[in-house]
Amino acid sequence: MKFYFPDSQDQIYPRYDFINDEYPDERVRQRDDLYAHQAVKPAPYDGILVSKAIVDGSVKGAGKYSAPQRDRLYRDGVKTFFGLPDSMQSLGDCGAFNYINEEYPPYRIEDVLHYYTECRFNSGISIDHVIFGYRPDAPDKDVDPAWVKRREISLDLAEKFIKATESHNRLVTGRKQHLEPVGAAQGWSPASYADSVVQLQKMGYKRIALGGMVPLKTPEILACLEAISEVRESGVGFHLLGITRIASMERFAKYHVTSFDSTSAFRQAFMDERNNYHTADRSYLAIRVPQVDGNPTLKKLILAGMVSQSAAIKAERECLKLLRQYEADENFEVQEVIDALYAYQSLIGDAKKLKKVDDYRDTLVDRPWNHCRCELCKKHKIDMVIFRGTERNKRRGFHNMTVLEAKMRKLPLT
Ligand SMILES: [Zn+2]
Repeated sequence: MKFYFPDSQDQIYPRYDFINDEYPDERVRQRDDLYAHQAVKPAPYDGILVSKAIVDGSVKGAGKYSAPQRDRLYRDGVKTFFGLPDSMQSLGDCGAFNYINEEYPPYRIEDVLHYYTECRFNSGISIDHVIFGYRPDAPDKDVDPAWVKRREISLDLAEKFIKATESHNRLVTGRKQHLEPVGAAQGWSPASYADSVVQLQKMGYKRIALGGMVPLKTPEILACLEAISEVRESGVGFHLLGITRIASMERFAKYHVTSFDSTSAFRQAFMDERNNYHTADRSYLAIRVPQVDGNPTLKKLILAGMVSQSAAIKAERECLKLLRQYEADENFEVQEVIDALYAYQSLIGDAKKLKKVDDYRDTLVDRPWNHCRCELCKKHKIDMVIFRGTERNKRRGFHNMTVLEAKMRKLPLT
């Protein structure tokens, strides 16, 4: 099972000053900042997925890339741009969620093929149009006509895409530079997904990406995979787009799912209410120590004269100081740290977050950073469980992916 990480230009600066919370002046972003596969060895995933919408922008507006970054990706190719080792794969897609509200995908086959081949991806997914709904027993005539249309559009574009890719590959002599075409299957039910797969196989696809399954429950995904596996031709493998259900991966693999992509382990580090720092058997709440300058609620209170700025800075520093003392001294009283965190959070006055302070106890008492063998935890220790600013939060996300990757490797998967 291969795990792809969808690129969103998430990088860290390796020499960030955690004590003073600042970047040294010599930092040059493009030169110095590291992607997860450069920051953690071995790389916490098998490949990266880069969406055209992120690079080139889409109907929703500009992408995540600046114009010079975009130019560099097209010029140098995905491997050089990301510093990808030979063992890692690159997969391109269109980023169908970015144009989900359009009637028709905003890209032409030529543009997409140009993106995949100029950037020299190993594999590229056909242009698809996401169907946002699940009606397991509904035939074509009973579902929203827009869904039927979207499936037809996806299949029609897949047929044009594989033909265009084959003619491109015929023109390129080195097999290594051939683009592997990946067909995108959409559907709203096990039967409609299975039919999409039948048609994609007829077109010649050996690898098929299953789209639109993100909102589905695990039994629903399994029902689709079962129907799909009944029509699968030998040698065909499936990619699950945007899924992380590690607990179900073994079952997915039985249905010839050979790869998936997901941001969830990464994003949980700073988006989840609870499961911020993952370990092999559980997850922990990260300890919030907001930056006085960076917290909008606190800033407002200070400007309104409700909270004194110096008191806020003092409380913030006290938390960080005590957390460091706690890290260094095994006998340090956990309650003292909790009290300081409580005092600081009280200034901000968010009742929900204040209630959470006591839950930090688990994170502190278990000291999970001491048990992780990833380079980041070894180096940054307690800073890995502190919820504060992009450098800490992204490192925790990178750590979570190493935990996921280790779990994947331990699963008895094909
Ligand atoms: Zn770690």
